[in-house]
Amino acid sequence: MMNIPLSSPDITELERGLVLDVLNTTTLSMGPYVAEFEKLIRDHAGTKHAVAVNSGTSGLHLIVRALGIGDEDEVITTPFSFVASSNCLLFERAKPVFVDIEEETLNIDPAKIEGAITERTRGLLPVHVFGHPCQMDELNGLCEQYGLAMIEDSCESIGSTYKGKRTGSFGRAGVYAFYPNKQITTGEGGIIVTDDDDMAQAMISMRNQGRGESNAWLTHERLGFNYRMSELQAALGVAQMRRLEEIEAKRKRAFALYDQAFQGVAGVQVPQVVGDVGVNWFVYVIRFDEGIDRDRVMHQLLEKGIGCRPYFSPIHLQPYYRETFGYREGDFPVTERVARSTLAIPFFGELSAAQVDEVVSTIQSILRGR
Ligand SMILES: *Cc1c(COP(=O)(O)O)cnc(C)c1O
Repeated sequence: MMNIPLSSPDITELERGLVLDVLNTTTLSMGPYVAEFEKLIRDHAGTKHAVAVNSGTSGLHLIVRALGIGDEDEVITTPFSFVASSNCLLFERAKPVFVDIEEETLNIDPAKIEGAITERTRGLLPVHVFGHPCQMDELNGLCEQYGLAMIEDSCESIGSTYKGKRTGSFGRAGVYAFYPNKQITTGEGGIIVTDDDDMAQAMISMRNQGRGESNAWLTHERLGFNYRMSELQAALGVAQMRRLEEIEAKRKRAFALYDQAFQGVAGVQVPQVVGDVGVNWFVYVIRFDEGIDRDRVMHQLLEKGIGCRPYFSPIHLQPYYRETFGYREGDFPVTERVARSTLAIPFFGELSAAQVDEVVSTIQSILRGR
């Protein structure tokens, strides 16, 4: 039995050294590594501010709050995503309004958005699914035309670009996330990027218990949270950011190996790149042709020790969403069709050519029914 994990963080001596450096000081939170991590991210994204937090979900929540989106407000978003991109609206009692996706990019379909806009629509929350940028010209145009705030869920797309500009830097604010399966990791963590001074100031306060700029320890100017990133996490992030190009190149190499190995494999579609974009892929998700039982392939791969997982399970069909909002199967047909037929397979920078061949030939033999 081989053992090929679905994902694997890329940790070197640099990461170990910087984390150990923190442990050799007395500053385990609110210190120089968070500041340096924020600077590296600002420079990368080309934004004025970066605000480090303890998860991507916390980052999305703070943006929704900083924009004052709340009771009765509607925000248009995609059902084909990780649940946090929609939950962040529910935290503030706002309503996620789902719009179905495009077959090719698996991102929210700009052509279907206008029909979902109402008097209550305050924002648009697109997700750059699997790292592939959304159609930002179209989405920006809609936001301008209807006065909507754009919140970019870039949790899967650090390093990706649309027409040469970084995902995350288009909206009023965007978020990158650093759970261990993301392109780069801080163990747990996230960071908000924005050009908006007032929003940045409010989010810096809210992540730190609502403390004001003076940072007086027991003065809480607004309702705050503890969404701080620790120095240990930030040190890991600094090392990962210094290696971002190297990490990206390694992942690109693994991606190209798959693309080549899947050539001529009947019944499998590989990820597509559409438009003037640069993609730093988060996962390698294949799509099976109609009539192929994805779950059968998945179970046989797992039995053979090859990591794989359906990506995603639609948000509107999650038990909580069905019960709370009454969603049913058939509500978002493209999302559901895609979700039934896609599978994430092992993908990380250290993936070897031999492992890629093993994964692809195993899939091929399962599909041939052997
Ligand atoms: C990873 C991810 C998040 C944030 O996840 P955390 O685990 O809270 O860091 C949000 N949205 C999407 C689409 C994601 O993939």
